[in-house]
Amino acid sequence: MLRYFITKRLVVYRDMMTNLAAAPSGVTNRRRGRNRQLVLDVLERTKRPMRAYELLELLREDGLRAPLQVYRALEQLIADGTVRKIESLSAFALCTQGENRAAFAICSVCGHARAFHDPALDRVLHRLAGKAGFTATAATVELSGLCERCAHE
Ligand SMILES: [Zn+2]
Repeated sequence: MLRYFITKRLVVYRDMMTNLAAAPSGVTNRRRGRNRQLVLDVLERTKRPMRAYELLELLREDGLRAPLQVYRALEQLIADGTVRKIESLSAFALCTQGENRAAFAICSVCGHARAFHDPALDRVLHRLAGKAGFTATAATVELSGLCERCAHE
C-alpha cells in the first residue's frame, strides 16, 4: 500500500516535470523540478528521514552543490505536502499522502520512519486544538521507539 502511494506520487512528479520541461519559461523551472525529483528519489530510496546536509552529500554527484538548492527543493516539497519536516530529528521524510495531518513512527535504532494517516487521530487533534481555542492548519505527530524489525533483534 505504502509502495503504491510512493509510486503514484513519483508518477505525478514525473508528469509535472515533463510539463515543466515543455513550458516556455524553461531552464529555471526545469532545474527546480529536477532538484525536487532528486530529493524525492533519495528519500524514497533511503526510506528514512534525512537531514538537509545528508541530502546534499548524496546529491553532490548529481550536480547539487549549494545548501540553498536542497533547502529550496525541500521547501517546495513541504509546501505541496510531499515531504514533512521531522522536528525531533531536524530531518525530512516523505509523506505519501498530501494531507495536513500526519503521524510518523520513527525507529530510534535504524532510523526508519513510517508515515501514517488516521481519521481518528485527525479528529482527536482537531478536538484538542479546538478546546484550546486554536485553529490548526497542519500537524505532525512524531512517535519514537522501535520498528518491528529492531524490536525483534
Ligand atoms: Zn528499526
